[in-house]
Amino acid sequence: MKEIIYDEKSIINLKMFGIEIPALKSRKTKTIEALLEDSELFQLKDQWLKTLNPYNISREDLERIHSENYLRSLFSDSPDACLKKAYELVNPDGSFNRYKPETAVAPLSDLLQQILNSCAGTYYSTRKALETGFCYFMGGGMHHGHGDFGHGFCPTNDIMIAAARILAERSAENIWIIDVDAHKGDGTADIAGNFDSIKTLSVHMADGWPLDEPEYDAQGNFNRAYCKSDIDIELRKEEENSYIPRMKEGLSQMEERFGKPDLAIILLGVDPYEKDELLSTDTMKLTEEQMLERDQQIFGFLDSRSIPSAYTMAGGYGSYSWKAHYNFLNWVLKNE
Ligand SMILES: [Zn+2]
Repeated sequence: MKEIIYDEKSIINLKMFGIEIPALKSRKTKTIEALLEDSELFQLKDQWLKTLNPYNISREDLERIHSENYLRSLFSDSPDACLKKAYELVNPDGSFNRYKPETAVAPLSDLLQQILNSCAGTYYSTRKALETGFCYFMGGGMHHGHGDFGHGFCPTNDIMIAAARILAERSAENIWIIDVDAHKGDGTADIAGNFDSIKTLSVHMADGWPLDEPEYDAQGNFNRAYCKSDIDIELRKEEENSYIPRMKEGLSQMEERFGKPDLAIILLGVDPYEKDELLSTDTMKLTEEQMLERDQQIFGFLDSRSIPSAYTMAGGYGSYSWKAHYNFLNWVLKNE
């Protein structure tokens, strides 16, 4: 049976640190609770629900994708500056943004271990996928993490950490990253540029963050959010009805250009969902039906070609996003 990793240890709990980004733990717990409410799935839960991750992620794993300078700051006694930048906690005038340190119950430096645990979940899902063909990890998808900085709530990039480790271990020779989060996978595109055997497809909003600043600043410096994926598919406001056909075209192009990979890692972000509550995803509003069709099409494409596939959650904000995760998983578990 297809497996889902839901490991308490790998859940990043931002609230503990006084961070008020609406990336709620409940989208994971609610999804699992709803799946377990189904008596058929409840009976079979020992077959599909994996709650213990045997892997760890070390600094050495991060060294494959991050610069030495960045890691020195991140692993210093005070990684707070890196974390505050990645989670966008400080405004240019020095005031706090979605951050109330007085409500924190743990120091910000403890967040790094939670992040590494989450990266370990993504790596575990790739190992499982290579073993069984399919695995879904309830976490991961930090696609805005670049080699030498983090932004967009992504201090590192679990997807690239897992892919680079799989390549280093020679468990796969070619890997695809399929990213359908509403936001462009800019960090992934940037880092993957250093790996010939990792190919990237990103389907995202043409106009929203991180593409809301010019490609070059006044001094002529390149804005790294514009690093190109191998295939970028950009959708403008009110182009929702062309989302599925254009995404399918992207998948076909990946196959035509790069052949069949040994592994695919998918970022099944649900922030394109019309009920997502993050303001910056306002230009992409897929219905619940379109979200499920998107996920089914990706699954069908990879499954029919027997491409081992590791799925991660990526973005999803507010109290309704869990439903889009649930719809896909409920379908996948019953689609044996
Ligand atoms: Zn996103």
